[in-house]
Amino acid sequence: MIAANRVVLTPSLKVLQSDKIRFEPALPDWKMTAIHRLKMSNAIKVILVFKERFWPEGMWDVVCTDSFIPEFWMTTYPTTDHSQHLRGLCAVVCFIAGEKAERLSASMPPEEMVARSLQQLDDLFATAACRAPATRALHSSHVADWAKEEYVMGAYSFPSHGAEAGDRQALAAPLDGTVFFAGEATHPAINPCMQAAMESGLRAAGEVLAAARPAGSRL
Ligand SMILES: Cc1cc2nc3c(=O)[nH]c(=O)nc-3n(C[C@H](O)[C@H](O)[C@H](O)COP(=O)(O)OP(=O)(O)OC[C@H]3O[C@@H](n4cnc5c(N)ncnc54)[C@H](O)[C@@H]3O)c2cc1C
Repeated sequence: MIAANRVVLTPSLKVLQSDKIRFEPALPDWKMTAIHRLKMSNAIKVILVFKERFWPEGMWDVVCTDSFIPEFWMTTYPTTDHSQHLRGLCAVVCFIAGEKAERLSASMPPEEMVARSLQQLDDLFATAACRAPATRALHSSHVADWAKEEYVMGAYSFPSHGAEAGDRQALAAPLDGTVFFAGEATHPAINPCMQAAMESGLRAAGEVLAAARPAGSRL
């Protein structure tokens, strides 16, 4: 157990909405209302590594908004002294976000996501000589599903239907000069990104310093 006079909490909104962290005494109603009115959605990346490039040179990004995978990013592996085993390999990162990612996370096994992604790439890049270039070139795959990350449980907070002005400020507000809140969802303006997370951390650090400062101190 760690005992402290002050604590800064930075878990994601989904973690705060779950019962993973127990508060004694319970968080006040106004804080709980803000936590539950704000929303956080999911993102999934299906990462496919290939033995050879089967897409045109110089192609980096494909958008297919009404398809299984709405967006692909193509890349080749930068090799370093420590990653010679990756030399010559290239990768396609398939990106799904929002409600679709939430639905798939709950309903589709990762192997099927890989199979559907490969099928879409095969359909896109088939030639007369090879009907299934992605399936033929596959080296390995990995599915990153942020909803399944135990300590994150999602990807991005977003401007949510039902949320009210002031909810993010209520989420950020400290309690009794002892419990402080930071993290991207607490930022009132620029969610959901690293900048919001960083700025909220600076804000919370300032609040802790102000609370810890002895009365009358001019520091
Ligand atoms: C796929 C994807 C791509 C992204 N791309 C970009 C990008 O290009 N640029 C950008 O700016 N942002 C990007 N983001 C958003 C960015 O990653 C987040 O906004 C940012 O990481 C949020 O930071 P945070 O500190 O609020 O939360 P987190 O990064 O989630 O950190 C919270 C921390 O709290 C820890 N934690 C949770 N519960 C507990 C507990 N009970 N005890 C102890 N520790 C706990 C977690 O392990 C975690 O380390 C992306 C996000 C995703 C999902």
